[in-house]
Amino acid sequence: MDHAEELTVDPRLLQAVLDDTDDIVIITDAEGIIRYVNRSFERITGFTAEEAQGRTPSLLRSRYHDSDYYKELWQTILQGKPYHGDVINRKKDGTFYFEEKTITPILDSSGRVTHYVSTGRDVTWRRKAERLLRMRFEISEILLRSSSIDGLMPVLHAIGRHMGAPVVEYWTRNAGRYEKTYSWTVGAGERRSFVCSVNEGAFLAIVEHRRRSTLFTNLRNNPLFRRRFCSAEGGCESLVACPVMASGRELEGMIIVYGPAPEVADEEALAALTEVGSQLGEYIRRKQAEEQLTDLAYYDTVTGLPNRNLFFDRLKTALKHAKRDNTSLAVLFIDMDRFKLINDTFGHRAGDQLLYEAASRLRGCLRPEDTISRLGGDEFLVLLENFANISDIQFVCQRIVNAFADPFIVESHEILLQVSIGISCYPEDAEGPAELLRQADQAMYRAKQLEGSAFAMFNYELDREVVQAMEIQAMLQQEIQNHCAHMMVFYQPQVDPLTRQLKGLEALLRWNDPERGFIEPSLFITPAEKAGMIQPLTEFVFDQVSNDLRHSGKDIEVSINISGKLLHNPSFLEFVRQRVDRREVDAGKIVLEITETAAVQFFDESCKKLQALKQMGFRIALDDFGTGHSSLNYLMQLPVDMIKIDRSFISRIAENRKSREIVRLALNIASSLELDVVAEGVEDEEQMAFLVENGCRSVQGYLTGQPAPLTELAV
Ligand code: C2E
Ligand code: CA
Ligand code: CA
Repeated sequence: MDHAEELTVDPRLLQAVLDDTDDIVIITDAEGIIRYVNRSFERITGFTAEEAQGRTPSLLRSRYHDSDYYKELWQTILQGKPYHGDVINRKKDGTFYFEEKTITPILDSSGRVTHYVSTGRDVTWRRKAERLLRMRFEISEILLRSSSIDGLMPVLHAIGRHMGAPVVEYWTRNAGRYEKTYSWTVGAGERRSFVCSVNEGAFLAIVEHRRRSTLFTNLRNNPLFRRRFCSAEGGCESLVACPVMASGRELEGMIIVYGPAPEVADEEALAALTEVGSQLGEYIRRKQAEEQLTDLAYYDTVTGLPNRNLFFDRLKTALKHAKRDNTSLAVLFIDMDRFKLINDTFGHRAGDQLLYEAASRLRGCLRPEDTISRLGGDEFLVLLENFANISDIQFVCQRIVNAFADPFIVESHEILLQVSIGISCYPEDAEGPAELLRQADQAMYRAKQLEGSAFAMFNYELDREVVQAMEIQAMLQQEIQNHCAHMMVFYQPQVDPLTRQLKGLEALLRWNDPERGFIEPSLFITPAEKAGMIQPLTEFVFDQVSNDLRHSGKDIEVSINISGKLLHNPSFLEFVRQRVDRREVDAGKIVLEITETAAVQFFDESCKKLQALKQMGFRIALDDFGTGHSSLNYLMQLPVDMIKIDRSFISRIAENRKSREIVRLALNIASSLELDVVAEGVEDEEQMAFLVENGCRSVQGYLTGQPAPLTELAV
């Protein structure tokens, strides 16, 4: 059959064929102007032949396809080749249909395009299963690639494209309320009123309890749907609300897919959307978890304290600083005995609550700058920096032990928790963080062996000091309750090195325990200060000195040592004032010795307090002069009458040039400020000679007199 014969077919027959077919047929001229459309075109698109003729096929453009799609289409047909492809077009009523299209260029004998014939099949329903699959595949891809919750926007786009929906929204559920957070739309301009931020929370609450994708049709008559008035013009007459749930339980939000016709959402589509919903739910949960992960990686969830990782980081940094600055640091490993038992008896909730409270008690024992961390279970770690000496650490531990002496209340039960604390120190015990932790852990096991709450140092040597200090505190407490029955005051003379004449006495406390024998002040003064027991001791010295002086009838000046803490204690100053007011103490006969370190601390306060004491009639001596590394400028502003050059400089006069210079300097300052000066700890004639040579007029030391009871002194 040749061409000419084919065209002789009766045109009415052809017309009947075109009219009967279910396919959409469009014939355009070479310029793309529509010349003919068939009945199926009219039926499916809603445009009449009159409306279509004279227009171009862009009449049906849905905006689902980008310019690349049309470029490819045109490139193919301009070359005279037929084009096959799927196209999403828009009907007159704004709704969409999927068309499987073939466009065939018709060429004349010279090969020029005269017409284009487009035949298409409405495959909106036939292709759905495939489309749904493709949608899910695409969404999985998007979620896999995206790194944040912003990945939701492309997901909405994919849903819209594959389901042929004009608008897709995502509503976030937050504390039971819904808020539209993402919205994707085709041709937003036409749907401006629909896309606005109207809150459909009330409507969504209805959907919520169904827990699966639900179709709503006839939105324009749904009184709960607030945008019902513009639902028709937006082509959004029905919707599918799809819950976004993680693990099928927690509702994260809701996807809403709008559609023109209810048929869009058959069972298959609803199932696919439900699937997408749970996929999204998992994804959102995972993203949220990832965000929390940074926190989880560094903090303990029960107590809110730094966890082992953060502790380790801080320990490493602290070690770096300690090495650079030549300072020391300590690691405490704290374990709560019997905690497991409590957890088992009262349950994990009670256990967690107990841990939280234990953690806050620990906090209370530490300075804000100390790091405290929960290692896991009932184990805690503490990092102590910037302490003066080992006993400072031990006092912190004692404070912790004391803090745990009070019971915790758990579900109206009183529960006593014992703590075992292991201590390791840099640089004494180890250089590295891991080793320090291990040693502290080891020491903790030793502490567990002791009775009750206890602490132990990794280093046994250092331990002995602690035990001693603690024993002494316990004994001191007894002794004070006993009105210092085993204490007495010794006096050490201060004499003029030239005439050997007595110039004054220093009162020095002595403790002779019936069981332990003589206990040196160097062993008990510091523990007494730390345990807050120095005041009763000093009050004892005050009263003793007054008594001794009264009984002996001697007219001599006596120095009394005042601990730095007492200077700032109003109740002690009140005690002193009362004694002076009642004339039980003759202030004019008393010198109060304050160490340089104590005087310089809280400088302004110290000056005021010292001034007040001077006003009561006391003279003030600056004890241990030269040991506090204080600037002279400061020292010269202090209201003092006397300085006592520290024994350490005197004892090194012979071998150390620097010591000699300090002694000389002190003597010079004293003479230029017209202060009295006493050289402490003079033990031999050589030291004495040097002092005399440099103008020292008062010495105190074994050479000129040991401390002794007043009655035994040849005064
Ligand atoms: P300090 O105030 O520097 O007292 C002088 C210490 O040097 C006394 O020691 C004294 O016995 C000792 N000493 C005196 N001459 C020599 C010497 O030639 N060679 C040597 N090596 N030592 C000498 P002590 O009595 O053991 O007191 C030690 C520290 O205890 C005192 O040092 C003082 O800081 C403190 N202390 C003593 N009694 C009291 C007190 O009643 N209250 C307070 N707050 N502290 C006190
Ligand atoms: Ca002294
Ligand atoms: Ca001294």
